[in-house]
Amino acid sequence: SRTPLIAGNWKMNLDHLQAVAFVQKLHWTLKDAKHEDGSVEVAVFPPFTDIRSVQTLIDADKIPFALGAQDVSAHDSGAYTGEVSGAFLAKLDAKYVIIGHSERREYHSEGDDIVAAKVKASLKHGLVPVICVGETAGDLEKFGASAVPVSQLEAALEGVSPKADIVVAYEPVWAIGSGQAATPQQAQDVCAALRAVVAKVLGDEAAARTRILYGGSVKSGNIASFMREPDVDGALVGGASLVVDEFAAIIRFEK
Ligand code: 13P
Repeated sequence: SRTPLIAGNWKMNLDHLQAVAFVQKLHWTLKDAKHEDGSVEVAVFPPFTDIRSVQTLIDADKIPFALGAQDVSAHDSGAYTGEVSGAFLAKLDAKYVIIGHSERREYHSEGDDIVAAKVKASLKHGLVPVICVGETAGDLEKFGASAVPVSQLEAALEGVSPKADIVVAYEPVWAIGSGQAATPQQAQDVCAALRAVVAKVLGDEAAARTRILYGGSVKSGNIASFMREPDVDGALVGGASLVVDEFAAIIRFEK
């Protein structure tokens, strides 16, 4: 009953001209694919500087892709040089915002408190937070797979309304950009543990409708095996979302 979500996190790739060309090409490539009938949701997460251009294209050509940002400020407005408000993203018809990606946790020292504040800011402005959690290789060795993602999600959901629309992304840090994806069973086990956190904090109804994605070296060759798992509702794709034919093949996954 949960609509699968295939999300492309472009990270710091594609300027606004490249972004427009990419989205047009992806749309042509996917003509008649199942996302056209709404049975799979496709979302792209370009750099901030591309969002206006992609929004204009999606709107003009009625392209059925959702738009998201890769980060958001915890603040609404004011003297925060370099920050982008969720209010501005909402005005650009962005639906989603990635929060707590491991690259922001690592390179920008974003801890659980900042992640929780950004989750609240995004919900306040009507954006759906895509809350990223995941363990490093060191965590995996020390604590096993689910302990760190579970505690990160518990912290991110503190004070969130049971009615809130959220997405969770399990991205083991050791699988990101490494070519070494988790096994479908590993992804299933942690996604099930994360669904139990949603149930505990937000309730059973929220747990039943919340989509939990797997991310980390997802490719056309492994997407189907992840999508077969009952608690994996889609994918957050990095590198493979930058290649039109490869991303299209991921979107066309066959169960
Ligand atoms: P890769 O698909 O390149 O491993 O990146 C995953 C990711 O970090 C998506 O947010």
